[in-house]
Amino acid sequence: LLAPDALFGAARRNSTGFDLSDAETLARIHAAREVAIPDAMPLTVSEPTGKRQDVINPATGEKIAEVLMVDAGTATRAIDDARPWEAPAAERAAVLRRAADLYEAHYGPVFGILAREAGKALPDAVAELREAVDFLRYYAAEGEADDGPPRGIVGAISPWNFPLAIFTGQIAAALMAGNAVIAKPAEPTPVIAAYAIRLLHQAGVPKAALQLLPGRGSVVGAALTSDPRVAGLVFTGSTETAQTIARTMAANLAPGTPLIAETGGLNAMVVDSTALPEQAVRDIVNSAFRSAGQRCSALRCLYVQEDVAPHLIQMIKGAMDELRMGDPWDLTTDVGPVIDPGAQREIGDYIAADAGRVLHKLAAPSRGFFIPPTMLKVSGIADLEREIFGPVLHVATFRGDQLDQVIADINARGFGLTFGLHTRIDSRVQEVSDAIHVGNIYVNRNQIGAVVGSQPFGGEGLSGTGPKAGGPRYVPRFFAPAAPAAPA
Ligand code: NAD
Repeated sequence: LLAPDALFGAARRNSTGFDLSDAETLARIHAAREVAIPDAMPLTVSEPTGKRQDVINPATGEKIAEVLMVDAGTATRAIDDARPWEAPAAERAAVLRRAADLYEAHYGPVFGILAREAGKALPDAVAELREAVDFLRYYAAEGEADDGPPRGIVGAISPWNFPLAIFTGQIAAALMAGNAVIAKPAEPTPVIAAYAIRLLHQAGVPKAALQLLPGRGSVVGAALTSDPRVAGLVFTGSTETAQTIARTMAANLAPGTPLIAETGGLNAMVVDSTALPEQAVRDIVNSAFRSAGQRCSALRCLYVQEDVAPHLIQMIKGAMDELRMGDPWDLTTDVGPVIDPGAQREIGDYIAADAGRVLHKLAAPSRGFFIPPTMLKVSGIADLEREIFGPVLHVATFRGDQLDQVIADINARGFGLTFGLHTRIDSRVQEVSDAIHVGNIYVNRNQIGAVVGSQPFGGEGLSGTGPKAGGPRYVPRFFAPAAPAAPA
């Protein structure tokens, strides 16, 4: 047998994470995450200015820290001060690997902050740390093997739902290409961002090559996307914000400045009558409700073949009843809160708007910003007006002779992030995979949790511009394009 390294190269060795079925490991993690939550300060070369604001624990509504939300002037000064990272690729890679080791060594505070600030249940926090570490090591290896010139200053704008992993992935790739990075975390999650940047600086990333600007999208995000000195933008967040950014960039930045955007989805799964029901139900429940449905890859619209639908829906209800909702600090919690009162209100109103279509709904804890896992009946994906970013599963049924139409309807909706298929008909796997227009297809498994280096992740259509994160084409997008060859 070949060792994995001989098959895939060292670039493919991923973090091993933690075994949460081991009681001693659990106890060790639980003790280590009891830390005082630090305030989130900007990390800039020049003195930052701005306004202090509270950071709130979504599970309790309590203040856990403060953040200095910087003003537009601070963003402009950060751009003045930014300097590309001129060390050789091997040195940059060594620093990113050192940062990966530091992230792993500091698992206690990382899990503590992810639970308190982002409402992450422990298994999700563990998965998130692994992904962040994998991004650092994977991009280090990719950029070392395939070096190129930096573009200059890259703005990195990230979402709150993976406030460590996506935040780190964007930064690591842009840095590995030698760029100066200015990172703007999402409003609700500045603490984990500041914690990560301090580890990256500690590992050896120069301060002028990596600055952190906590602040509002409409202030700091807008400043980064409209300053002509910015040579590239990497964004993950909603499709709407990506469209606003694309317009701002087109009006202000040099023509051809790249925008790498990974955005939302209306992800579907098809379960036909040959699928194994127990396996399908487990994968449906994980895909729709894990992380309180706050994953871009999460299952939003399930299509079940009509012959098996009553039985399968009954089983989903039973599995939903087993989910434990509550404070992510409690190790038995499966489903934590949604991120803030605005999200709670929006998703709650959406569910309440049409009580007639509720197939099943759990009861939510009375404290904190919770939305109970909910299953709604729809006639098809066309009924979903927009991405509802929470634990809401829509279910439609189809006849055996309607599968082609179902796939056509999913494609017609315009998003193209993830798609799941449960079937035991081999030829169907190939046919459906060929016909569906999405970035990531999952067969007979859940459709969340892509693995860096093994399952490059990213969508098409309204779901993203590519290249896929955690794949071989990602780091090269952060290199300056080669100058055209001089005529002979
Ligand atoms: P969001 O679009 O509201 O915000 C994302 C970031 O953009 C934040 O940092 C925000 O401050 C900033 N921003 C807002 N307005 C801006 C502006 N005018 N100019 C510049 N920046 C601005 O998204 P969110 O609520 O933080 O995250 C959830 C969304 O992210 C969902 O739609 C989800 O599907 C998507 N997402 C996609 C992926 C993916 O890989 N495709 C991964 C995670 C999340």
